[in-house]
Amino acid sequence: MKIAIYGKGGIGKSTISCNLAIALARRGQKVLQIGCDPKHDSTFTLTGFLIPTIIDTLQSKDYHYEDIWPEDVIYVGYNKVSCVEAGGPPAGAGCGGYVVGETVKLLKELNAFFEYDIILFDVLGDVVCGGFAAPLNYSDFCLIITDNGFDALFAANRITASVREKSKTHPLRLAGLVANRTYKRDLIDKYVEACPMPVLDILPLIEDIRISRVQGKTLFELAESFSNLNYICDFYLNIVDQLLSVPEGVIPSELTDQQLFKLLSDFYLTNQCCDQSQIKNNVLFIE
Ligand code: ADP
Ligand code: MG
Repeated sequence: MKIAIYGKGGIGKSTISCNLAIALARRGQKVLQIGCDPKHDSTFTLTGFLIPTIIDTLQSKDYHYEDIWPEDVIYVGYNKVSCVEAGGPPAGAGCGGYVVGETVKLLKELNAFFEYDIILFDVLGDVVCGGFAAPLNYSDFCLIITDNGFDALFAANRITASVREKSKTHPLRLAGLVANRTYKRDLIDKYVEACPMPVLDILPLIEDIRISRVQGKTLFELAESFSNLNYICDFYLNIVDQLLSVPEGVIPSELTDQQLFKLLSDFYLTNQCCDQSQIKNNVLFIE
């Protein structure tokens, strides 16, 4: 099964991907995680260091695929999870889709692409141009990470549109949303009421998760020394169990930007979250 994990920058995609990868390994799956974010730190908590990217390796070998060995680009991390970083196109030039295409091409040449039970693509979703949507071409499911705020839901809605578009030509479905770093889910609930899709879990803001990133370890690795962290691992195991049961998922219909903005305004108006003086003629003015 191939799963593409998308969401706004900094929302927690890589943290969730790495911990899901370990949770999958704990469930007996052979896992490959492919970082498809130019930030190339997707697999950091699995390996404990920034591994060389596919693009850097290809460049250093003058794009001679035959000179590249699996161990040049596939690094084995904690709990035997295999890790690849696609890398990014040169700043201000090139295309993220090209990078993902080259990564998949190389993994196929190395006979590595079909060797795994699960491949996780960790992809940024601020801009879902055709390039960054490329991992959807190879995926069975898309999983979107969001919080309870407008920016992340706006990105989620864009990703939803990409899934709807790609599902016309690929056997792709949206597994649903995972909320991260939030206790509240009221705006998320409003969104999924308007644009139906499952919510797989809600992870609160937990200081130990932030610390795990700094320490370069997944929560599962830390929990081996600190059993009080096991409750956090259970969030990830719960998500993985839902994915392994092959969820039905949805082919979504995204909202228009106007609908999404109206949803937000209505939400703030009905919840009176703001100063009433900011509301004129039933329109929210944010200065
Ligand atoms: P992304 O891959 O989406 O850019 P990261 O996974 O790198 O985001 O996470 C961004 C930051 O947020 C990291 O410092 C990470 O440790 C922290 N973080 C992620 N999830 C949580 C959480 N549930 N609670 C606290 N901090 C979190
Ligand atoms: Mg990341």
